[in-house]
Amino acid sequence: MNITVIGTGYVGLVSGTCFAEMGNKVTCIDVDANKIEKLKQGIIPIFEPGLEAMVKRNYENKTLRFSTQLSEHLEKCDIAFIAVGTPMGDDGSADLKYVLQVAKEIGENMSHPIIVVDKSTVPVGTADKVRATIKEALNKRQLDIAFEVVSNPEFLKEGDAIKDFMKPDRVVIGSDDVPTTEKMRDLYAPFFRSGSARLITMDVRSAEMTKYVANAMLATKISFMNEVANICELVGADVNDVRIGIGSDSRIGYSFIYPGSGYGGSCFPKDVKALHRTAAEHGYEARLVAAVEAVNDTQKLVIAKKVTKRFGEDLTGKTFAVWGLSFKPDTDDMREAPAIYVIKELIERGAKIKAYDPKAMHEAQEFYLKGIEGITYCNSKYEAVIDADAMVLLTDWKEFRIPDFEELKTQLKNPIVFDGRNQYNDKMMRENGFEYFQIGKKAV
Ligand code: NAD
Repeated sequence: MNITVIGTGYVGLVSGTCFAEMGNKVTCIDVDANKIEKLKQGIIPIFEPGLEAMVKRNYENKTLRFSTQLSEHLEKCDIAFIAVGTPMGDDGSADLKYVLQVAKEIGENMSHPIIVVDKSTVPVGTADKVRATIKEALNKRQLDIAFEVVSNPEFLKEGDAIKDFMKPDRVVIGSDDVPTTEKMRDLYAPFFRSGSARLITMDVRSAEMTKYVANAMLATKISFMNEVANICELVGADVNDVRIGIGSDSRIGYSFIYPGSGYGGSCFPKDVKALHRTAAEHGYEARLVAAVEAVNDTQKLVIAKKVTKRFGEDLTGKTFAVWGLSFKPDTDDMREAPAIYVIKELIERGAKIKAYDPKAMHEAQEFYLKGIEGITYCNSKYEAVIDADAMVLLTDWKEFRIPDFEELKTQLKNPIVFDGRNQYNDKMMRENGFEYFQIGKKAV
């Protein structure tokens, strides 16, 4: 099939490349000319395991192209995917300006019947708005061209995006038109060959809702477990044991019940807020959803509170090594990362930071921590701990899992570790002579 993917970010670039890998002819469009130029030169703007090789291979095979010109590519296209950002608006709702701008451009340029797919995460009712926007643009051109609007929310995880897209757990298609659903089924059929994945079809509104509910459910598990961790700490229980104890119940399961420094990223924070907002717009106060968010806001600073409890409210003259900046491992994405909040808090209290992350240093320096004085960016995790008063671990990158504890102890001014991701065994830390603080258990 001829496919146009509009918006070449995490979702658009991964989806477009994976569709090309399956033999479709794909053009990825973006308004960011710099990004498109780089992609043509084989420079991938994001870090995502396996993506670079796949982009290069398909670009060389000419199954994947990049352009800033939507109008040229719509002419040949069967299916147009909208994969632009839907950032949080001022009132917490999803800002649809990019989605509706693309819908307008589609209406202004389409010349034959096409399927328009909302791949971006968009609130219930957005497909109707996209349809109306395209229709309005067609009316202005005095044209009556048939088109369908489908909801096909994306469930890939950054860091595992290629794997998730190539072997999805499920693909959700929301459409009210049977031939359109069949065409979408044909498009996704190659992705279902090897696994037990399912293509789930439903009406458009249910598909739109499914994405928000999936993210809100996962965020709820995280916030619930973080709340449990905080209670464990007060009552002298060990959340690590509690986690294993409850996860063994097949109705609960082990996934997404790790206590930590709160969730971040481009999706959970904004999607939980947007779901709350959608409910409010329909006159319903979604109390549990609001609590999930409130717990997370507090949790992001739990590790900073442990630092001030240990070192005092005024951290002037203290230096902390921070291991991990990205919101989770295997990505350079720092959107809403707990590290941003913790670092700002420590710096406001007078501390200096020596930061290291395997992939997110550029994002931190250029965007998320830009201009903040008092941060030194280090070339390795061991360089970061030299003469630091303590180490603060904020992202569970694999390379932090079993560090050389002897070297860590030798380089730190004090053998103190604040672990925001419960990576280490406290007995082992104590035996190695560390003062060790983690989430949901009293310090040793
Ligand atoms: P992103 O910010 O990485 O990329 C969006 C891209 O769209 C940017 O490159 C931007 O330049 C481009 N764009 C904006 N307006 C445009 C226009 N008019 N024409 C062409 N390009 C335009 O965003 P993302 O992380 O890929 O997320 C995209 C959507 O997918 C969001 O709704 C998000 O919630 C959803 N989503 C994201 C993830 C994830 O892990 N990142 C997972 C599932 C769903």
